[in-house]
Amino acid sequence: MPASELQPGSGKPSPPWSPGDERPASFFQRLYFLFCPSPDFADQKFRDHRQLTIIVSAILALLWPALWGWDVVTDPLGAANTITLRLLFLLTFGLTLGFVFGERCRRSLAFAGLLGGLAMEANFVEILNRLEGGMVYGLAGFMYCMFLAVLVFQCFSLALNIGYTVLAAALPHALSWLGLAHDFPHLQYAVLIWPAAALAILTQVALAYHYLLRYQLQRQLELLSNTDPLSGASNRRFFMPQLGREMVRARRMKQKLALLMLDIDHFKRVNDSYGHPTGDLVICRVTDVCRQVSRQIDVVARLGGEEFAVLLPGSDLSQAVGVAERIRKLIEVGEVQSLDHGSFRFTVSIGVAELGPGDAVEIDLLARADAALYRAKESGRNRVLPASAGAGAERAGQNLAAI
Ligand code: GH3
Ligand code: MG
Ligand code: MG
Repeated sequence: MPASELQPGSGKPSPPWSPGDERPASFFQRLYFLFCPSPDFADQKFRDHRQLTIIVSAILALLWPALWGWDVVTDPLGAANTITLRLLFLLTFGLTLGFVFGERCRRSLAFAGLLGGLAMEANFVEILNRLEGGMVYGLAGFMYCMFLAVLVFQCFSLALNIGYTVLAAALPHALSWLGLAHDFPHLQYAVLIWPAAALAILTQVALAYHYLLRYQLQRQLELLSNTDPLSGASNRRFFMPQLGREMVRARRMKQKLALLMLDIDHFKRVNDSYGHPTGDLVICRVTDVCRQVSRQIDVVARLGGEEFAVLLPGSDLSQAVGVAERIRKLIEVGEVQSLDHGSFRFTVSIGVAELGPGDAVEIDLLARADAALYRAKESGRNRVLPASAGAGAERAGQNLAAI
């Protein structure tokens, strides 16, 4: 394995690039990602292009039967034999309906789209068979199969799009070899359609690449708008809706949910004694400890100033008190190196609440944890106190708005 593929110092191969990665990416790394996309990317691409597919496939479902006019002009007698085949193109509406109602069926729709597209092309070959000189006059019609697929299948992966284009370009040759395309002009078809197919593939690569850049920017914006720039913890904008979602989920799944509210003790003194930049280090230290103690599914957020919340899905009150105690103790014993006045220790107070029947909205649970935090402050700081069910309104009005 080339040394460049090793993570510095780890001896492990570095994972392939993905849009959330901070590493700069080369054109080929992005291209590789487009061929092996993450499920998130594939789902988002599908959602973002779904409407385009609905519109274009509905238009095609009408356009292809309407092109019967071309059959009449080419061969008025033979056109009588193509009308039923032309009407078969109306089946394309099936794909439209599939996209309208099958929002979550990306894979099935991709499979149906691929087979449906090839079936429609085979139908077109049979139409040309039935027209006098149809195969020569209608040759350019195969370009529809190349370029309209660029639009219709944009919602799918690049690999599927390219696979479809190659199969669609090869299908008429194959049908001719099977004796199903009469007088098929292989050479004329090849010089016209294969360059068109190559162009269609290039267009697909360009569109997919452009979409990936957009997706990457979108991810970065989401991350920036959901993250506190100082500590890297989630911010309030991300946390509140997440709390709401977790409350709904916990109720639906009949699971526990707990919340910690944490406030740094005498933080003003830290700032006054050691300076604001050292205060910032303390904020980062609290975030690190909360992350160290919490699990992947927990959410650590800085709600404002020196107040933090940790959401613990699946945890009950006593488990959450245990987590809070671990955070409190780790912070209590840890030393912070100030920028120019030596090292010092600090403490935190934590209020803990478990989702209860009285917590109708997010702020109810938050208010109870906050009330417990307030009591922890009142009773001497550097401690963890659980909330009592139903208690919480005492200072919710005064302080939560300011968090
Ligand atoms: P208590 O134990 O009662 O919580 O006292 P406290 O001093 O921690 O609380 P108080 O609300 O009086 O002070 C909070 C301080 O937090 C005041 C403000 O200057 C400081 N602060 C808020 N945001 C930041 C920040 O981003 N960085 C730094 N360094 N300080 C901040
Ligand atoms: Mg404080
Ligand atoms: Mg405070």
